Amino acid sequence: MTSLNKLNKIDKRFFIKTYGCQMNSHDSGLIESGLLKNGFYKADSVADAGIVILNTCSVRDHADHKILSELGRLKKNGPDKKVVLAGCFAKQIKLKMESEKHKTETGLFFDYCFGPDEIMSIPDMLKYENRYVKESYNDDYKDVGLIEEYFSDKKLENGAAAVKITEGCNNFCSYCIVPYVRGEERSIPFEIIYNTVKKQVSKGVQEILLLGQNVNSYLSPEGGKKDFCFLLNALSDIPGITKIKFLTSHPKDFNDGLIETVCGNGKISKEIHLPVQAGSDKILSAMNRGYNRKDYLKLIEKLRNGLSDISISTDIIVGFPGETEEDFQMTVSLMGEVKFNFIFGFKYSPRPFTKAFEIVDDISLEVKKERLERVFQKQKEILCS
Ligand code: SF4
Repeated sequence: MTSLNKLNKIDKRFFIKTYGCQMNSHDSGLIESGLLKNGFYKADSVADAGIVILNTCSVRDHADHKILSELGRLKKNGPDKKVVLAGCFAKQIKLKMESEKHKTETGLFFDYCFGPDEIMSIPDMLKYENRYVKESYNDDYKDVGLIEEYFSDKKLENGAAAVKITEGCNNFCSYCIVPYVRGEERSIPFEIIYNTVKKQVSKGVQEILLLGQNVNSYLSPEGGKKDFCFLLNALSDIPGITKIKFLTSHPKDFNDGLIETVCGNGKISKEIHLPVQAGSDKILSAMNRGYNRKDYLKLIEKLRNGLSDISISTDIIVGFPGETEEDFQMTVSLMGEVKFNFIFGFKYSPRPFTKAFEIVDDISLEVKKERLERVFQKQKEILCS
């Protein structure tokens, strides 16, 4: 039987639900582009779809709970649908199944399971109807032509385009599941990014958002010195580009060369997201962040000296194991010193496979909630002062 005959046997209308961050939105665009190229059609809702794809997040336990609820709803309301679990939560499930302790079925309701590094295989898997357990896929950006084609056909939002430049992470912050579910850091070759942006500019794009877990450690894999500064300068020279944003930067990799590039290139956005996570050196060290409070404050000072109109946002985690009231006060005082323009605050939750998962989660939920409220209150006071 030909693959087309097999394809004709399944309902080809798909609906993608995306959870989590901009990286996942970007990946959902790639999945959609791949399915449309392979004879599938977009449905308007879950109810209308024959295939439901949940592109999942796993960065906090709250994200896991949302997906489990959605799987429960699908089991009840759409038992005839093909359910595809994709993204970080999917990878977590696969890792658990592969581990010694979890060799049995998960008991969850889904037909296929693809980690973030396997999403390019979704169209083929659906066409050929293989089961997720039979074969292991790893796209790993080897099929460069396909990725470039998918990137350049991706739907644009508000005349702006998001382009992924790195995948995975090597930093292993002790609380973070990303290096386990997204794998080691890989930079997408410079030529692909450059050609993609050029094609998108020809379609009317003026602004681009460069995405990666740690964009400022970008280094094109063909060798040479095509690093993040090189990429920013090369893209900003493309006629038609008016603004370049990027997300997310790691403070430890925001070196003087990058500060100079950001401050000296008028096309680079002055809105910088620099996750600090905590203000106490003890907690920063336990988190394995690779910088201390003094380093972070020095970086902020350099950026502000170079650009008076810079806008700095951050992420803060409260209630990491061992965080005393005194440690927490250090976070609050750092907020007062930096005066962030925006903060994203989170309660710590233990994630499987991580180093911190082995440590007792000794801060009660009540204390975490109370500290998070104080963080938001402090931010309100800063913005009103
Ligand atoms: S830098 Fe740290 S927090 Fe960010 S993705 Fe990598 S391991 Fe996670």
